[in-house]
Amino acid sequence: MQKLTLIEAGQKILEAGNIVITAHVSPDGDGIGSALGLCHYLRNRGKAAQVVFDDRLPIAFRFLKGYEEIEDISDRPEIQPGERPADLLVVLDTDLGRVGRVREYVGKDVTTVNIDHHRTNDEQADYLFCDYRIAAVAEIIYELIVGLSGQEGLTKDIADCLYTGICTDTGFFRYSNTRPATHRAAAALVEAGAEPSVISETLDARPADRQRALAAAVQTMELFADGKIGGIFLPYELVKDIESTEGFIDFVRVIDTVEVAVMIKESQPGRCKASLRSKGMDVGSVAMQFGGGGHYRAAGCTVEEPLSAAKAKIIEAVTALVEGKAHE
Ligand code: 5GP
Ligand code: MN
Repeated sequence: MQKLTLIEAGQKILEAGNIVITAHVSPDGDGIGSALGLCHYLRNRGKAAQVVFDDRLPIAFRFLKGYEEIEDISDRPEIQPGERPADLLVVLDTDLGRVGRVREYVGKDVTTVNIDHHRTNDEQADYLFCDYRIAAVAEIIYELIVGLSGQEGLTKDIADCLYTGICTDTGFFRYSNTRPATHRAAAALVEAGAEPSVISETLDARPADRQRALAAAVQTMELFADGKIGGIFLPYELVKDIESTEGFIDFVRVIDTVEVAVMIKESQPGRCKASLRSKGMDVGSVAMQFGGGGHYRAAGCTVEEPLSAAKAKIIEAVTALVEGKAHE
């Protein structure tokens, strides 16, 4: 592994002709927005570039240019190693461990450039740029494009994608990861054509069945540790037909006494995906105890247990964190 500056990472990418771009499974606005934004830029520079995910893409992001062209290999039970030849695999918003089978799909010996902002990055890529102070990978891709091509490198399509990524990872500029540079990047993206009100209204639009599921999810709310922990716990039956539970955790996160919010959903029978949010404590360390990771204040993990067992284990670990016993 070799660490690169951002400009070096950009130059390394431009040395390739045929580039596959991917991001983490459970795709979110930052993963999809930064991958599509980079893809548009590379195509504008005459490269063959393609975004590939090994997971279903939330339809909430279908307004982004290029969404329809993203290749999703998740419904293919088998893929051949090296089936999709490329000179370079660019991995965004995660390390190589969380991209599903995309590495196998392009071939394990294909050179990897990894651009990330997670503290928990495993540094396994051939070339790495990782800065956890930067709010979103979309903000990093903005800096990369402007560093290589100036403001002229930004088109409206790129601006929409990157603005969306920044908004999703900062909660529309409200989370503590929002810095002056984040606003400057956003301002430049608006100058390049991104429309904040259109993007925010589009991302806020919810299907009715999601709202019904949220109402049921709210009924599962429990508080622990004198109200310092708030949780919602979603059995498989409740989530099996809804596309996304994005934002559900905010219902408990905003409770005034809550320091750590937990959402555990049984994504398949016997398998639970947990999301953790804090107002200052290191929930990334808790996620890592269960083989997951993330940021200081936003992290997640998957536990191979039914809901009740996953809930007991995770609430125990979070209780140790809030009661200051995490390392005893
Ligand atoms: P979410 O709860 O929204 O799925 O994820 C919150 C943050 O934690 C995101 O930055 C996400 O990339 C990270 N994260 C969620 N689940 C996992 C996991 O299983 N492993 C790792 N390494 N990171 C995760
Ligand atoms: Mn991100």
